[in-house]
Amino acid sequence: MRMILIGPPGAGKGTQAANLVDTYEIPHISSGDMLRAAVKAGTELGKVADRYMKAGDLVPDDVVIGMIIERIGADDCARGFMLDGFPRTQPQAAALDEALKKAGVDLDAVVLIEVPDELILDRITGRRSDPETGTIYHLKFKPPPPEVAGRVVQRKDDTAEACTARLSKYHRETAPVVPYYEARGILRRVDGVGAPDEVLLRLTAALKAPSAS
Ligand code: AMP
Repeated sequence: MRMILIGPPGAGKGTQAANLVDTYEIPHISSGDMLRAAVKAGTELGKVADRYMKAGDLVPDDVVIGMIIERIGADDCARGFMLDGFPRTQPQAAALDEALKKAGVDLDAVVLIEVPDELILDRITGRRSDPETGTIYHLKFKPPPPEVAGRVVQRKDDTAEACTARLSKYHRETAPVVPYYEARGILRRVDGVGAPDEVLLRLTAALKAPSAS
């Protein structure tokens, strides 16, 4: 299964990807997680990415494309992968197609998780994660248990200011990629409003339904 999760920041892509990879036994490849790891490790790529990420801007295509194409060429992706956060621009989508074509394989599904803008700010600014386990919480919707609450951290780009920038980038750069996949009949739209378990049920059903192609 070669699949992409698309959606605005805070749509629940990371949460749902973590739920789905066990079912499909494929690696979860999050471009945001890879970039954050590079920033933490202080690599050259990480130093470049850090500036853009802090401001809620997209990291330049050439940096991200190289990183992801190399990753999906790894042995553990031979049976498939779940891309989360990539592609985010039309050049990224084109580069992915070219790499898959070269490898003689195709995408099976692109899932768009839809959440209205007015819910995004609340979702993003309340988001916290446990640096020890990576578990994602939300101060209002999924508060961390007392033993974890003291150590949760907020992502630098989960502030209201960076969130607004990320949302406008999403509409300008990423949303135009959707019709590209829709025209190929591999797009599945999923309502991302509601509890993560409800969204997972919708997502699983959407993936089981026959595609339009
Ligand atoms: P995410 O964890 O997916 O919300 O990504 C966090 C940040 O990493 C984004 O706001 C961008 O700055 C950067 N980023 C992640 N994926 C990409 C991508 N495919 N293209 C450009 N920048 C990206």
